[in-house]
Amino acid sequence: ISAPAQAPAAWLAGPPPAVPRPHASHKGTWGDVAVIGGAPGMAGAVLLAASAALHAGAGRVFVGALDERAAALDSAQPELMMRAWETLDLRAMSVACGCGGGEAVRAVLPKVLSTARALVLDADALNAIAADTQLQALLRARGQRGRATVITPHPLEAARLLGRGTADVQGDRLSAARDLAGRFACVAVLKGSGTVIAAPDRAPFINPTGNARLATPGTGDVLAGLMAARLGTSDDAQQAAAGAVFDHGLAADRWPPAETLTASALARGLVG
Ligand code: AMP
Ligand code: MG
Repeated sequence: ISAPAQAPAAWLAGPPPAVPRPHASHKGTWGDVAVIGGAPGMAGAVLLAASAALHAGAGRVFVGALDERAAALDSAQPELMMRAWETLDLRAMSVACGCGGGEAVRAVLPKVLSTARALVLDADALNAIAADTQLQALLRARGQRGRATVITPHPLEAARLLGRGTADVQGDRLSAARDLAGRFACVAVLKGSGTVIAAPDRAPFINPTGNARLATPGTGDVLAGLMAARLGTSDDAQQAAAGAVFDHGLAADRWPPAETLTASALARGLVG
């Protein structure tokens, strides 16, 4: 992986300093995030994403769990608001969809793609879209209407979306990410070492942070939640996505060598 085709100046100087919150701000100022996923047996993924959004500074974080028994998770993190996904008004929200979604996520995608103000699609949402041309058309329509949309595939998910092999995607990650962005009219984040952040008709970024300690379960869910929080307060989806990838990797680079990196600790370590 070569140097970024066009690194934002801020990357060269390190991450920006934390912005102090204006005194008169309230939780509405910082945006509502909804995390939709968590099919039966997969609640952990949705909780990791929601925890990341909360720690990244989102004003309010709702969990739209696809498992009816999710109310039992209410005690998992008291700041999170557990809801039936159908009751959420997504038009004002930045949504992360697909973390631990299983097959059940297919049914929520038409509404999510049509209504979410800003949207991060991960994991099982991407697998459902790869297998369904109607969902692909809805995804493209969002971009064409100017709605902030980011897809976050790892190489296998990217290969499914492109109808190509994983080795082919990994052989030219830059062009795979650009193909995804062009085909689906959205920001495409191709994860893995040297994450590529591509957007239609713009130069792609290659992220310089992160390391193999992130190769552990749940770190992708943490990225999706962090990214939804950032997308909700940004006018530039590619910059917001690149900033989230950078900070996620930086947190791993700063991890104490003697401590195990787990996704839940990574989420708790984010700051907003
Ligand atoms: P997922 O594949 O969805 O579980 O997400 C894994 C997360 O960890 C993504 O953000 C990857 O970019 C990151 N990651 C995994 N392995 C590495 C690596 N060797 N170097 C840098 N980042 C990695
Ligand atoms: Mg994943």
